Amino acid sequence: MAFFVASFCTSCDLSHFCPMAERIIITIDGGSSCGKSTLARQLAAKLGYRYIDSGAMYRAITLYFLRNNVDMGNTVQVRSALKDINLEFIINPLTQQSEIYLNGEDVEFIIRDLIIAEKVSEVAAIKEVREFAVAAQQKMGSQKGIVMDGRDIGTTVFPNAELKIYMVADEAVRVGRRFKEMYDKNPNISIDEVKANIEMRDYIDTNREVSPLRKAADAVVLDNTDLNQEEQLEYALKLAKKAIKALA
Ligand code: C5P
Repeated sequence: MAFFVASFCTSCDLSHFCPMAERIIITIDGGSSCGKSTLARQLAAKLGYRYIDSGAMYRAITLYFLRNNVDMGNTVQVRSALKDINLEFIINPLTQQSEIYLNGEDVEFIIRDLIIAEKVSEVAAIKEVREFAVAAQQKMGSQKGIVMDGRDIGTTVFPNAELKIYMVADEAVRVGRRFKEMYDKNPNISIDEVKANIEMRDYIDTNREVSPLRKAADAVVLDNTDLNQEEQLEYALKLAKKAIKALA
């Protein structure tokens, strides 16, 4: 699995990658379709960090459960299925984007389907599933130099992260963004379906017993309702540089 080992240098002007720089963990949490992945991906690229989309892990587990008819209410079946799941993030050499592999198969595209989105929050609320995913996520962050987005990254996965961002955006904006993204793949989808799915996932994610979606007490809130991608990246980069500098 390829990843870079450089980051912004704290002893120079912070304008270029430097292998001497301190490496930190950056967490980005928030509700569905707030633009977390876009920001996390761009921020990681700027810093030369590794980007991990934790939601993709829950989606890939959901795909496995659906394909193998795993009874989500049956703990024995869930535990046994998790033993057969291997998740990896591999950089696509053509796009340079990180893609998720389930037992050796690239499932990055298929896990974005509405069929997965309809079930993923139910799967992600299962205690055994969370323990499995969180352990893998913590391992990925052991060398630092990582940007991870999700729902519980700043609260449960990396409670000591040097920078935590909590993203919010108006619901209409979130629905519009997700609709556009999904419509490009499936023109039969309706805006009402997308809205209902976002609301349903946010409800389950916020109200589940294990690691519910919460803002970490020390997270910085980033409301991107009126920000474009460049503006939100610029803001997040400033926060990252400050956090890196604070370690020097
Ligand atoms: O980020 P994304 O929308 O792809 O995440 C899909 C689902 O995975 C979320 O709705 C949530 O149920 C679950 N998830 C989670 N914890 C995370 C990341 C995602 O429960 N850290």
